[in-house]
Amino acid sequence: MKTVLVDLDGVLNEYCGDYKEDFIPALREHAKEFLEILSKNYKVVIFSSRPEKLVQKWIEENSLSSYIDYVTKEKKPAFVQLDDRCIKFNGNYTDAIENIKNFKPFWKKSN
Ligand SMILES: [Mg+2]
Repeated sequence: MKTVLVDLDGVLNEYCGDYKEDFIPALREHAKEFLEILSKNYKVVIFSSRPEKLVQKWIEENSLSSYIDYVTKEKKPAFVQLDDRCIKFNGNYTDAIENIKNFKPFWKKSN
């Protein structure tokens, strides 16, 4: 089974820029259904810079354990990464500079 690295903040939860070290925001609407569907065909690995134990607790509290393989801070080999702060590299560095300069996560309302 192929692995998908799934980011936590801003993808699976309601994070929108207000980072608190010891608090993980609420589960996003439809995130559980999404993980359920994804985990049928892919190994789901949660990729987060947060403390592993805190993430693990959040996963359990939201009854997501059965869809998730494990939690990691490392960039493990994967088929694809799902992240709210990612830019797809198209092979062109000029585009990359431009895309980095203009980047805005989907949840950011204004600059
Ligand atoms: Mg994120």
